[in-house]
Amino acid sequence: MFVISTENFSVWKKKQILKGGDNKSLSLLIDLLGGLSTKELSLLKIKSEKNLRLKLDLDSLEYFWDKHLSTFTPIQYLSGFSYWRDLKLEVSNKVLIPRPETELIIEIVSEIFKNKEEQITYVDLGTGSGAIGIALALSNPRWNGVATDIDKNAIEIASRNFANNSNQSNLKFYCGNWWDPLFNFKGEIDLAIANPPYIPQDNYEGLPIEVKNFEPKNALLGGEEGLDHINEIVKYAHLYLKDNGWLLIENHFDQGDRVKQLFFENRFTSVKVLKDFSGIGRFTIGRYQEIIS
Ligand code: GLN
Repeated sequence: MFVISTENFSVWKKKQILKGGDNKSLSLLIDLLGGLSTKELSLLKIKSEKNLRLKLDLDSLEYFWDKHLSTFTPIQYLSGFSYWRDLKLEVSNKVLIPRPETELIIEIVSEIFKNKEEQITYVDLGTGSGAIGIALALSNPRWNGVATDIDKNAIEIASRNFANNSNQSNLKFYCGNWWDPLFNFKGEIDLAIANPPYIPQDNYEGLPIEVKNFEPKNALLGGEEGLDHINEIVKYAHLYLKDNGWLLIENHFDQGDRVKQLFFENRFTSVKVLKDFSGIGRFTIGRYQEIIS
């Protein structure tokens, strides 16, 4: 721990923001690398304490801030951590930094499964850092979750995140492509969720440097039209979902109608496109219906 005078810290902070970047990123850096939470930071002005404690000295923090400004490396990758909902998750450049819009998935699911006593089996396909799967396991300790990812580094990170955020055992991790590792769960899934790579090729080329140069391409790029992985997930869903089981997929801002159509073509009913905070049709949901003949 480094004890630093509040006055020196304020001077340092002003100097950093004059170099560029935005306040939110600087606060995140002070939080994730300096160990001073954004809340504590905003209380500093009121509390008028003489000193504060940081995990790194100001020169080291400045080194990371300069690196962020000159290379556009996201603070989350510089620190190895990201906040998402009430979780603090380990991240590396092998996994996407979990996005705020994705947080809504947890609310959508709790709207669908209102009866908290119900015991369901859910799957988080392409879990990355584990965000969705872990949040669901924590808020529904009676549920059984399975999370898959094609990248074994992601599976390792996600498993550690689950272990570090809970002492529960209701989420298992499997390495493999989308549904592939789930051969033991055929016809047994009540709810499947995926935030797959959905950026179309042309859009990918134009992504901001902080995304394109650092975040894993295989977690973002969804082929020519962005729909390659969504197609695959919807097409094979019938093998794994129970009759009336739910599928929820996050999609790109303009893909809602096409994904909805895809759901219909694959025997889904009650298909809806739900909006994110910005009013974008971001999530497509539906229920798989078996045809009994
Ligand atoms: N929403 C992410 C972005 O815009 C993309 C996530 C994804 O492809 N699943 O960077």
